[in-house]
Amino acid sequence: MKTIGLIGGMSWESTQEYYRIINETVKETLGGFHSAKIIMYSVDFEEIEKLQHQGKWGELTELMIDIAKRIEKSGADFVLICANTMHKMADEVQKNIKIPLLNVIDLTAEKIREKGLKKIGLLGTKFTMEEDFYKRRLTEKYGFDVIIPTEGERRIIHDVIFNELCLGEIKQSSKEQFKKIIENLVARGAGGIILGCTEIPLLVKQEDFEVSLFDTMMIHAKSAVEYAIKK
Ligand code: GLU
Repeated sequence: MKTIGLIGGMSWESTQEYYRIINETVKETLGGFHSAKIIMYSVDFEEIEKLQHQGKWGELTELMIDIAKRIEKSGADFVLICANTMHKMADEVQKNIKIPLLNVIDLTAEKIREKGLKKIGLLGTKFTMEEDFYKRRLTEKYGFDVIIPTEGERRIIHDVIFNELCLGEIKQSSKEQFKKIIENLVARGAGGIILGCTEIPLLVKQEDFEVSLFDTMMIHAKSAVEYAIKK
């Protein structure tokens, strides 16, 4: 079994889900007392979140590269950045390490392709929804038509992520707001919705929707296990 490297803590509320799902999946797959071999570097999210909101992406890139190198040096066979937003610099990180980085955008795109969907809604932080790195990869590499919520809706999503979910607060009122936003994307033709932020699955569940939800945290964690135990 390969050793999984995790860059976590963005936020720890979702990283603990990665840790749980990875271990549960290893146990389901291999049985007995099996659990995952993991090397994790968990950041202080206060530092990260400040730099993100100040637009200091260069500094953040340096930081992610440094952490990935530490994980590599510690003996991980491959690495995951446990957040969608920080995939903004995923290619740059990959260039600076020798072990593979499992990109959550690609893994999610493959699941969408398996379902044969073309038009897809994207939820995430304002960075993920509004900047180019996420949508462009989905459009250029996979040919999807990606739509995002309206400006007001995007503000609601971003604020719920940072003011509630990353602080461990799950509110019914926010769940209702997300439900409306998803319904609006479906009305605009989205055949599936990417939960493109690893905290959103803490609030929004597939059982509440008919439309297919692509839970990036779950897809990423399960793919890590598949990669770790494949021969
Ligand atoms: N976990 C997040 C994501 O998946 C949001 C936190 C962050 O901005 O890093 O995008």
